[in-house]
Amino acid sequence: MVQILSRFFSSFIPLTTNCSFFFQIIRVTVCHEAISPSNRSQPSLSLSRQVYSPRRVAVHAHGSRTAEERAERVRGSDRSKRPSAMAASNGGDAPGRFDVIVVGAGIMGSCAAYAASSRGARALLLERFDLLHHRGSSHGESRTIRATYPQAHYPPMVRLSRRLWEEAQADAGYRVLTPTPHLDLGPRDDPELRAAIGNGGATVVAGGAEPSPWPWAGVFRVPDGWAVASSELGGVMKATKAVAMFQALAVKMGAVVRDRMEVVDIAKRGEESILVRTASGEEFHGAKCIVTVGAWTSKLVRSVVGMDLPVQPVHTLICYWKVKPGHESELTTEAGFPTFASYGDPYIYSTPSMEFPGLIKIAKHGGPPCDPDSRDWSTGAADLAEPVARWIDAVMPGHVDTAGGPVIRQSCMYSMTPDEDYVIDFLGGEFGKDVVVGAGFSGHGFKMGPAVGRILAEMAMDGESRSAVEAGVELEPLRIGRFVDNPKGNLSNPGDRGL
Ligand SMILES: Cc1cc2nc3c(=O)[nH]c(=O)nc-3n(C[C@H](O)[C@H](O)[C@H](O)COP(=O)(O)OP(=O)(O)OC[C@H]3O[C@@H](n4cnc5c(N)ncnc54)[C@H](O)[C@@H]3O)c2cc1C
Repeated sequence: MVQILSRFFSSFIPLTTNCSFFFQIIRVTVCHEAISPSNRSQPSLSLSRQVYSPRRVAVHAHGSRTAEERAERVRGSDRSKRPSAMAASNGGDAPGRFDVIVVGAGIMGSCAAYAASSRGARALLLERFDLLHHRGSSHGESRTIRATYPQAHYPPMVRLSRRLWEEAQADAGYRVLTPTPHLDLGPRDDPELRAAIGNGGATVVAGGAEPSPWPWAGVFRVPDGWAVASSELGGVMKATKAVAMFQALAVKMGAVVRDRMEVVDIAKRGEESILVRTASGEEFHGAKCIVTVGAWTSKLVRSVVGMDLPVQPVHTLICYWKVKPGHESELTTEAGFPTFASYGDPYIYSTPSMEFPGLIKIAKHGGPPCDPDSRDWSTGAADLAEPVARWIDAVMPGHVDTAGGPVIRQSCMYSMTPDEDYVIDFLGGEFGKDVVVGAGFSGHGFKMGPAVGRILAEMAMDGESRSAVEAGVELEPLRIGRFVDNPKGNLSNPGDRGL
């Protein structure tokens, strides 16, 4: 792998399904000649959901704009005062031509398409399966946000993302993020816990030198030698609803969204064009391309540039457990119960009781490697649920019932890098800065979706991310080049791991 990367870098130029929800909140327009931009200036027809056909319909904004209108919008945009060099570029409104083509419509691709189209780019978002499917990493009921990270490079990104979540919700007119406090707990000497507390500005409320009263002391039986720290920047995002929101916002900004479109090739065509080809034989041209294909990243990148990017798909399980009778309302978001993370082995994370009344999500981080194209949906049940039951029995015995095992289990995939740091970089090689990859979000990317989407879009459109610089987000640790000399990337010791 290192050899392949080294070779590659020698040519491096500096380098539930809730579909109904989605289609209720956007208005789709008929476009029998799918993605024909000339149709954009024609009056659009509202479609009822009953007649929606994903193969024949391109979803785009009601009242979509001409290139001139889009350029004008960029000039007048209050989100980004900077004129986009791409707004009216790329052959104008030629059919099948776009400023930015985003491949993969999970949270990252959907946010990137929104960010690019908000800047006035003519954006296309291509998704292999049905929109909001359950076969990747971004589906389901909930994800957590927290600023307590062992790695110092993430809290600035969390803060940027938190602001962008608010802006997107304001644009959409509804909420997907419910703020909560956040708790971190674990063995007092655990270096990752200590670093997370320091980096996230958390306050130690138990097990430290100066313990203070904390509201949930009666819920947790904190083991001897453990510490508990509380921080304010926590919260729960409704996952599928959030992805749908960003897709709807992208469409509102003029993006075209196509599902059931598997991208099989990305190739350079001349100086200023990237050709994106799908399994069904359709071809799209983009000035730039953003690849956000989650657990399929290694496969697609290998087939496009022959590079082995170390992004390992992992099967994991979300478990919901029954709250013991009498405590149901105590562990809810309404009661102010926190999200939490428990350090050590196993690493446990939780969201308050919210989506299924009377149940609380408590799950183990990680799981066995898997092939995203041939998954054994039943694997890991024992390995992933039993350690959680043991943890609950030790730390929350009075409040959560483990006797019957988890009441609900949902499969999901992580895309793990060896150091659990993201990959955000230009693909390089013959693509130079024309193709940007966002991948390897290692089970902790959802909260960053709006920030990552903005950064990827700016990298594609401007060759750099001004938002990252302004927010103090360091992208250097997320570069592909970190694997060239060290297959473990940012890990200096074999025992290290990020979270
Ligand atoms: C159980 C679980 C719990 C998690 N909890 C948290 C949490 O609490 N907080 C947090 O911040 N993060 C969390 N995460 C991580 C977070 O959900 C992921 O990091 C994030 O969803 C990754 O998004 P993505 O867009 O990269 O990948 P995906 O959502 O998988 O999107 C990739 C998309 O690309 C599509 N695609 C693939 N190949 C192609 C192709 N060739 N052509 C076109 N489309 C293609 C796929 O179909 C898919 O829709 C959790 C993840 C899981 C699984």
